[in-house]
Amino acid sequence: MPSPLSSFNCKYSRECSECCLETEMALSEEDLERIQNHGYKKNAFTRNVDGFLILKNIGKNCYFLKEGKCSIYEIRPQGCRLYPMIVDFESNSIVIDKSCPSHEQFEVNEYSHLFYDLVNFVDLLLSEKDEREKKEKK
Ligand code: SF4
Repeated sequence: MPSPLSSFNCKYSRECSECCLETEMALSEEDLERIQNHGYKKNAFTRNVDGFLILKNIGKNCYFLKEGKCSIYEIRPQGCRLYPMIVDFESNSIVIDKSCPSHEQFEVNEYSHLFYDLVNFVDLLLSEKDEREKKEKK
């Protein structure tokens, strides 16, 4: 049973694609399955980077960005729903991406539950990466 997907309620919603350019968004197995169930082939929209499944770009655009809009908005990956909260691997912390035009709308108090969702999501990505690497070694 898939887990419910939490989302930041972006005021620009489908009108902005700032977060869909040169994406490095990591996908969970659940994201992968949900998108594949809509007829997309894994190799067409993912790349493997250090064991993580990452969305592919076509040129500078996410594979799914078509005519400036996400073509899979209703089934988009969990990480896309949690943006502008991102993991800054340099400081090893969760930050709000200031390049998002909506970042000032992001009230930490209102969206504190998303902080925990992102922490759990990162744990999930790391454990799935480990599993993937174990399978590849067999
Ligand atoms: S899947 Fe959709 S929301 Fe996520 S980066 Fe791609 S186009 Fe943007």
